[in-house]
Amino acid sequence: MLDALINLLRKLAKFAGNPQSSEPVVIREELPGSWLPWVESLPFYSTLTEAEKKRLLSYTCTLVENKRWRGLDGFEVTDEVKVTIAAQAALPLLGIEHHFYRGVDEILIHPSTYKVSSRKRGPGGVVIEGKTEVLGTAHSDINIVTLSWQSARHGGANWQDGRNVVIHEFAHKLDMLDDFVDGTPPLSCKKQHAAWVRIMTKEYEQLVDMDRRGKKTVLSKYGATNPAEFFAVSTETFFEKPRQMRKKHPELYEQLKTYFNQDPAARLDR
Ligand SMILES: [Zn+2]
Repeated sequence: MLDALINLLRKLAKFAGNPQSSEPVVIREELPGSWLPWVESLPFYSTLTEAEKKRLLSYTCTLVENKRWRGLDGFEVTDEVKVTIAAQAALPLLGIEHHFYRGVDEILIHPSTYKVSSRKRGPGGVVIEGKTEVLGTAHSDINIVTLSWQSARHGGANWQDGRNVVIHEFAHKLDMLDDFVDGTPPLSCKKQHAAWVRIMTKEYEQLVDMDRRGKKTVLSKYGATNPAEFFAVSTETFFEKPRQMRKKHPELYEQLKTYFNQDPAARLDR
């Protein structure tokens, strides 16, 4: 009961503070022809059906035109940068009900990897403060995603290596839609929620165990950090190494297939 009250207060505090209240989205149906080569250069694009391609182009253009884009460290954000990032961010949206990432108003872009302050526990419980080099950040308290352009471009071009920083950070933003960063995005019903919690917990614990034993899996060990990272890493793997995931982690694949309402492994089987 106390937990429920605390959760409610947290939600109210967040709602008053800002959060998912992006401006209304103006949907764009057509992508300018001069932008098309940048989308076509992303290898995943050719695996989509004609209907999916049409939707992806519309979503890409809508994201480019409705979000604020800002370069950091002197980086100039060109149309190519925006389109390349927006097209990757649009992919997870193709099958779900969405509001064009209403938890994202602005996308900040560094030219390459950048450093953020970090805190971790060392031996004896000592807190070590320092700087960590990162590829991207999905901020939980503000409507911003920060990315390294070098990593975003590399992630889009190197499809099927299992790493995609754009999909990773935007998956965090889907997770945050219910105001909790816990690896569970809003789901359609109680039954889906129960199955999700059961499978995701089992798969997460399995990855933690494999990581502890130094064993490699199709999922990056970064997913063993916490359940939120597990969801973001699983989403990257689902889109980038779908056939390997379907084979090695069929239940996890099934959960993500149901949630995203997409079957990327079947696309590659075609
Ligand atoms: Zn992450």
